[in-house]
Amino acid sequence: MKIGQYELHPIDTGRFALDGGAMFNIVPKSLWSKLNPPDDENRIEMALRTLLIMGNKRKILVDTGIGTKFSEKYKKIYKIDQSKYNLASSLKEYDLETKDITDVILTHLHLDHAGGATYKEDDKHKLAFPNAVYYVQKKHYEWALEPSEKDKGSFIREDFKPIVEEGKLRLVDGYTVIFPNIDVILSDGHTPGLQLVKVSDGKDTLVYCSDLISTTSHIRIPYIAGYDIYPLTTIEEKEKLLTRACSGDWILFFEHDPSTEAVKIKETENGYAVNEKVSF
Ligand SMILES: [Zn+2]
Repeated sequence: MKIGQYELHPIDTGRFALDGGAMFNIVPKSLWSKLNPPDDENRIEMALRTLLIMGNKRKILVDTGIGTKFSEKYKKIYKIDQSKYNLASSLKEYDLETKDITDVILTHLHLDHAGGATYKEDDKHKLAFPNAVYYVQKKHYEWALEPSEKDKGSFIREDFKPIVEEGKLRLVDGYTVIFPNIDVILSDGHTPGLQLVKVSDGKDTLVYCSDLISTTSHIRIPYIAGYDIYPLTTIEEKEKLLTRACSGDWILFFEHDPSTEAVKIKETENGYAVNEKVSF
């Protein structure tokens, strides 16, 4: 897909699974299980889909997937599977290696988004993208240093400490145009200082929805995850984004949907729904 001066490609980094009840909170299982069938441990399949944006002499990656630092125990709990898709093989399709990435925009620092930013070698944590600058919202970075009791399990220091130590962290403070035609939409409901990445040339627009709208099932306004810190804020922010996306004919890109990379939406009498799937 091309938007303005950029070529955009989904980069699949693997699959994992989370508890369906946690992903849909108060929505009854009889409803969500039709959309996202659970396994025998009640977990639903989730993609770890990042986005490669190339152009303007930059090779930008939005989020990094869950990475490779997890133990066997976590691999089992989260059903992490990188046998079919992984970061290295997906980048190779575009003749790229991790060293070629110039910039990494992290929507937030939860382990399934920032885990791939670093890797472990000889008991040391190293940058997975040694030549990249990493962009994180200041407000979110501060939250990640002192998370709440509710979400502290979603942060792993080793995902971002090496970025700071290597002097590669750029804190972004509020609304920012990070590159020409690439800016951010701010969101606080899922976690304070979440930044959605928006690529637009004025004609075509794509938004990387991160955990504000994790999958196509979450387009339904009340379908929000139990992980969210401020659920009512998520609802407001989702409504605002969906309204803009509908009127602007925007493409919504999903990080976690197991089968759908991106869609355009429409408004129906039952709320917003998928109008068409968008392929790359
Ligand atoms: Zn998250």
